[in-house]
Amino acid sequence: MREDMSSSYRGRFAPSPTGDLHFGSLVAALGSWLRARAAGGSWLVRIEDLDPPREVAGAADRILAMLAAHGMRPDEPVLCQSQRASRYDAALEQLIARGIAFPCACSRRQLEASSGLHRAACPRPEATVAHAWRARVPELAVEFDDARIGRYRQELRREVGDFVLKRNDGLHAYQLAVVVDDAAQGISEVVRGADLLDSTPRQIWLQRQLGLPTPRYLHLPLVLDEHGRKLGKSLASQPLRADDPLPALRAALRFLGQPDPTHCGDVTALLQSAVAKFSVDSIPLPIPSRMPEDNV
Ligand code: GLU
Repeated sequence: MREDMSSSYRGRFAPSPTGDLHFGSLVAALGSWLRARAAGGSWLVRIEDLDPPREVAGAADRILAMLAAHGMRPDEPVLCQSQRASRYDAALEQLIARGIAFPCACSRRQLEASSGLHRAACPRPEATVAHAWRARVPELAVEFDDARIGRYRQELRREVGDFVLKRNDGLHAYQLAVVVDDAAQGISEVVRGADLLDSTPRQIWLQRQLGLPTPRYLHLPLVLDEHGRKLGKSLASQPLRADDPLPALRAALRFLGQPDPTHCGDVTALLQSAVAKFSVDSIPLPIPSRMPEDNV
């Protein structure tokens, strides 16, 4: 892939500090790191600490330390979303001014009849009522070419509806923050888990509304637990070991369909060899698969 990517490649890993790094998030980190290094570009880390109630104290620092123990260090200072509320508000103001964002006090219960999606016009809430801000989504199909999956298409209004930009508790929504920050950090390609595949069309649409560039996208297969659920930080997933990173790195490479560099005795040598051999076409398609039996 080196041919069409220059050192202007900028990738990122964007964990939410809702728990420690686990094998599933190591796979996403490694996928984005390998892709950036193989392209001769930069790799950034952004802490997506938008939702204080869901945060675990100290998790952000432990995630960064665990990434470093596995040989992955960001090339630039880490950006924390908790510091960027004024940027998200500025983007929201732009969308309000253009009539795209609207205040909405619809409850979850009210949206039950439409499978939780907001599509109908709703009354403007009284100024004193706590309300969210939503984006009014048009009848539009958004398509993009994922680097592994190929063409992906979504009918925004039918499949997503008017989505939340700022919650009624005043917290900014992931969809708005991620679009603002990927542009602010000059990300040229977003590499992340396939659980976010169906968020990508609405992010592309939002980029267009805000006059921001659209990066390329590569969605990675997800590591699922024995019940077929995403291995989340909230599930009791096996912790990684800072003092013994090689087994997890090897398992993550195998999970990503990359050759296991058997003769590399340390993290740096293992990663160097993995970068040299990295092939995006070998990554399994993001269909449900299980954790490799013999990982971490
Ligand atoms: N913060 C998200 C997560 O931890 C990832 C967002 C992204 O990569 O766009 O699942």
